[in-house]
Amino acid sequence: MSRNTARAAGRHFLHIPGPTPVPDRILRAMDTPMIDHRGPEFQQLAKRVLEGIKGIFKTKNPVIIYTATGTGAWEGALVNTMSAGDKVLMVETGQFATLWKNMALRLGLVPEFIKGDWRSPANPAEIEEHLRKDKGHEIKAVCVLHNETATGVRSDIAAIRKAIDAAGHPALFFVDTISSLASTDYRHDEWGVDVAVGGAQKGLMMPPGMSFNALSDKAIAASKTSKLPKSFFAWDDMLKLNATGFFPYTPGTLSIHGLATSIDMLNEEGLDNVFARHDRLAEATRRCVKAWGLEILCQDPKAYSSTLTAVLLPEGHNADAFRDQALSNFNISYGMSFGPFLGKYFRIGHLGDINEAMLIGGLGATEMQLAVSGIPHKKGGVQAALDYLAEDAKKRAA
Ligand SMILES: *Cc1c(COP(=O)(O)O)cnc(C)c1O
Repeated sequence: MSRNTARAAGRHFLHIPGPTPVPDRILRAMDTPMIDHRGPEFQQLAKRVLEGIKGIFKTKNPVIIYTATGTGAWEGALVNTMSAGDKVLMVETGQFATLWKNMALRLGLVPEFIKGDWRSPANPAEIEEHLRKDKGHEIKAVCVLHNETATGVRSDIAAIRKAIDAAGHPALFFVDTISSLASTDYRHDEWGVDVAVGGAQKGLMMPPGMSFNALSDKAIAASKTSKLPKSFFAWDDMLKLNATGFFPYTPGTLSIHGLATSIDMLNEEGLDNVFARHDRLAEATRRCVKAWGLEILCQDPKAYSSTLTAVLLPEGHNADAFRDQALSNFNISYGMSFGPFLGKYFRIGHLGDINEAMLIGGLGATEMQLAVSGIPHKKGGVQAALDYLAEDAKKRAA
């Protein structure tokens, strides 16, 4: 929160990894009179959106749209498929993985939590080893985050699918794509994921309050025998009504309008171009951070996130104070730190509706604040980002 009560001129630089800036075009699409959510106009809109969102997940199967934040879709994945006492294998990539594990506990599941150092991706070999040891097939689901938003570390979902198959284990495979969907390539069907959890306020450039479960036939089959109590999040009523273009209750109709425009915008840019843009902005950010001589939290370059970069400050410098000062000096927000690294890093979000010039503005504000806060660093970080982005643009223009 800004301590400054005076008006801050210009735009706010919202560099948190979600919610991301909502494009004017989506805001305008949502600024529309209410229509009957049981009427023909809504039905047409809903059918278009329910079809369009499949393309974003790269699936032919139905995608459930919840009027709930991403946390609700986590719950949807678990309560629709699991029964009390079921074991689930989860991986401690960071804060969000820990929260999902805690939810599993509260719901009466028995999570096996593979320990992690908050700097590395989920390890497919370790997952395979755990599954091989589970001769009685007590583990009913493997749950991983595609992109751990707390740390800026991406896991290799295709490799984890292979690991599950190599172990010959029948567990369902659940993937949280909340901070990767529509920003990092995610292939639901090709990668054999059973339930993907998605959210609106990150790559989809939407306000919070909408989330998703992309399904597989195996997940739908599991939902027929699952015994955990479920009501609001139950898939069966939703699938029945969605097939006709309606919802069992009043959905967030404005978000449905917004999502239609979000999907249009992503398709107009082309998903591959969206992914390449995120890769490029992430690489520019990392070059900038490295030129400053600061350390990136993610220790495995193959697992660098394309949607956010967590930056460690040198020992003795508080990252929360740094974020506060950057906000009051330069009207920029970063993501906070968590867990074992609380107060030690800040996260630069570079996802959603963002381009080169916007990123350079954000990195420029950051470089200024490093100087203001007296944090030991080398000059020239922004220059390194400029050089990389200019060279990249030259290559693409050639
Ligand atoms: C943002 C996020 C969540 C939480 O979503 P809410 O919309 O805040 O409930 C969960 N998982 C990941 C990976 C996220 O990035």
